[in-house]
Amino acid sequence: MTTPSDILRWKTEPNVLEFYCPGCKTLHQIDLSVLPNYKRQPNAGWNNSFVSPSFTQNFQVFKDALVCAYSMRNGALTFGSESVHELAGQTTEMVPIPTV
Ligand SMILES: [Zn+2]
Repeated sequence: MTTPSDILRWKTEPNVLEFYCPGCKTLHQIDLSVLPNYKRQPNAGWNNSFVSPSFTQNFQVFKDALVCAYSMRNGALTFGSESVHELAGQTTEMVPIPTV
């Protein structure tokens, strides 16, 4: 396992990651334990990279209603057009997690 980077880090080891979403301008969490195959093969859906992270599945974030749909591939975020923020439908490099 590589060490956390400035774009992806553990929120709580060993299964919850977090990163900064430049669309929502807030942190998002990825709970590895709810990904398919976690029990059989932990981190199966993740390439185990903190520097150029990829996940095999897409994600959705809800706040009452859907606010953000994204995929993470090779350190870039692609937002679904159904996202409600200004980056909907766009792909952007992941950015460092703000320190405040
Ligand atoms: Zn978001």
